[in-house]
Order: sequence, then structure tokens, then C-alpha cells
Amino acid sequence: SLEQGPEGPETPIQVVLRVRPMSAAELRRGEQSALHCSGTRTLQVSPPGGGPDVAFRFGAVLDAARTQEDVFRACGVRRLGELALRGFSCTVFTFGQTGSGKTYTLTGPPPQGEGVPVPHNLAGIMQRTFAWLLDRVQHLSAPVTLRASYLEIYNEQVRDLLSVGSPRPLPVRWSKTRGFYVEQLRVVEFGSLGSLMELLQMGLSRRRSSAHTLNQASSRSHALLTLYISRQTVSVPTWGRSWPRATQQGSASGCRKRLGHALEVPPGEPPMGGKLCFVDLAGSEKVAATGSRGELMLEANSINRSLLALGHCISLLLDPQRKQSHIPFRDSKLTKLLADSLGGRGVTLMVACVSPSAQCLPETLSTLRYASRAQ
Ligand code: ADP
Ligand code: MG
Repeated sequence: SLEQGPEGPETPIQVVLRVRPMSAAELRRGEQSALHCSGTRTLQVSPPGGGPDVAFRFGAVLDAARTQEDVFRACGVRRLGELALRGFSCTVFTFGQTGSGKTYTLTGPPPQGEGVPVPHNLAGIMQRTFAWLLDRVQHLSAPVTLRASYLEIYNEQVRDLLSVGSPRPLPVRWSKTRGFYVEQLRVVEFGSLGSLMELLQMGLSRRRSSAHTLNQASSRSHALLTLYISRQTVSVPTWGRSWPRATQQGSASGCRKRLGHALEVPPGEPPMGGKLCFVDLAGSEKVAATGSRGELMLEANSINRSLLALGHCISLLLDPQRKQSHIPFRDSKLTKLLADSLGGRGVTLMVACVSPSAQCLPETLSTLRYASRAQ
């Protein structure tokens, strides 16, 4: 389990593979499984029609029998949450073809009706992290302000899922102090688990989806829910008091370092604004497999563009020889918005999702290769 992983963010990207159970439709069609988990970290792929098995290794491999709670634990999301509380930017994203279980892994099955909550045992990584975080901040000595935003990227356009009224495309900008950010994005402060769950439900129901031959409800957009965690230790000190002494030094960076030390953040890290971002990526399948035409073709192109850009940035970040080189975060909106957790002071967890069916094997192999390259 990744819970026993290294303490600090030394490994920038961790990859977990989840194999979902065979669906009723796959079973009805008599499809065979092409995947076998051997041990907790290795996936064996048996090519249909014989040939030697191919093995892939990941931080963890979770087979179809693993519950939502198992997945939450095995992914070590609490460790990411702790890092976010200490000021790091952390991201969890799900990757895989449409129907592979990305949305299920993050948020559970679709609701059985308007306003019907997901049953507790089926809640995904997001609801479990929310509950953990809200409980965790109650036990902190310093008060914490929690805010959230929820957006989707559709055809390389950013839409605010929490906007009041119908969403307009919002520009992504860059500034020296903030890095990449979405202008005019609604960021909502919340104080309870209930109100955060409401924001999630609101965003989920507004996610853009369009009919698709692979999966009627397939989501063709990337959805990013971000939690902003700020600790309020820098509240203006009464003049003349000795705490915080750092403010009397006059230097902003000195102040930050001192306060950082007080919060037990590693020296030099930005201690104040931690972030925890959950990204439900659009389906990674190739255009050809989906019979896309017209508008759907445009969607598939921009989806692939950002997924390619993401893969490209990750491989450059992981290449030790190119560590100092320029990382092309600017190539897509997705990579811009993930830049600080991928490249800055962040930790990223990728949950690659696959179907066990031999029928899906070509797409499964491309997911496995993409995921393997990311670690
Ligand atoms: P994606 O978001 O990758 O397109 P979904 O999360 O919507 O895929 O999953 C496709 C279908 O399979 C949904 O009906 C979902 O509820 C179901 N499903 C996915 N993963 C699991 C799982 N681990 N256990 C049970 N059902 C699952
Ligand atoms: Mg989905």
C-alpha cells in the first residue's frame, strides 16, 4: 500500500492500476478476461489467441474484487491530504478509456435519481477524502479556511461548474504569484462536509456529456475539483507582541520561512496555500474506436491533445537528463492547471482504470503503456 510510501514528495507521480469487474453487458456477450493480477503490484496481460503474457508493474494493482474503501486506502490519499495541509499542491487523477471506471473510482456510481446520495459503501475517493479532510481539520490547532472550485475543460474551453447562471468560457492566465489560474472562477468557501457534498453534486449534474457510441453517458470533458486549504496563522499580529516574531524581520520570504517552520513544513516550501485537486479525465480512447464525426471529432482531438500534452509533460518531468529543461505546460489547458502539482511543489497520484475484457485489450494496452511511462 502507498500509505507506507515515502514521507515527503520525493516521488512526484505515483501510479495505481484498478481493474473493474466485468460488466453485465460484457458477461452477457460472453467476453473473456485478458487480465490477471499476480501479487499486489503486477498485472499480467494474456493476449487472446496465445502468445506469452506481458507483465506491467505499478505502485499498486487493484483487482475487480477490491472495494471503494480498499481503493481509497491503497491509493494513500490521506498522505496526499496531509501534504496538502502542509502547503503542497496534490492531485489525484483517473485515466482510462470510457467505461473503464474513472468516474466510479472518484465519485461512485451515478445517482439513482435527482438528489439521491451515493450509498456510503460505494462512495468514491472524493467523498472519502472530503470526509477525512473535514474531520482532520477539526483536530488541528490552527484554524483552516477551506474553499473549493469545480470546472470542466471541454474542447479546450474552461467552464465553471459552480457558476451562477449559464457558464461562459473562462480564460486561463498566468501570474508570477499565482502561477496558472482561471480568471473569474467561482471559488466557494465551505465549512461543513454537507456543503462540500452539495458543491460536488451541483458540479456533477452540470458536467457536459454527449451521446457516444461507446457509452451513452460518456463524459467528453475533463473535470477538476480543487480544494484550497489555507491555514490562518498569519492573522495580523497585534503590534508589540512577540508572536509572530517573523513579521518584524521585514522580509516576506523570511516571514514565510519562519511561519513555515512553525507549521512543520519543510524549509523553503510555500507553507500557506495547500491544494488538493481531483481530476476526472475524459476517455482516452482513440477517435477511430468511437466512430466520432463532426463535433465529436473535434472533442476527441482536443481530448487527445490535452492527454498527449499531459503524457509529454510527465515524461519530461521523469527524465533525469532533462530535469532542468523546459516543460511544455502551456501546450494545453489541462497541463497549465496541473502545472503546480506536476512540476512545482506537488505530488500527483494517477489511478489508471481498465476493463478486464479481452474485447477492450487494445485500449487497455494503451492505458497500461501510458500509465507505465508515468512512473
Ligand atoms: P468512465 O468514467 O471511465 O467512463 P464509469 O466510472 O462511468 O467509467 O464506469 C462505467 C460503468 O461501470 C458504470 O456503470 C459504473 O458504475 C460501473 N463500474 C465502474 N467501475 C466499477 C466497479 N469497480 N465496480 C462496480 N461497477 C463499476
Ligand atoms: Mg466518466
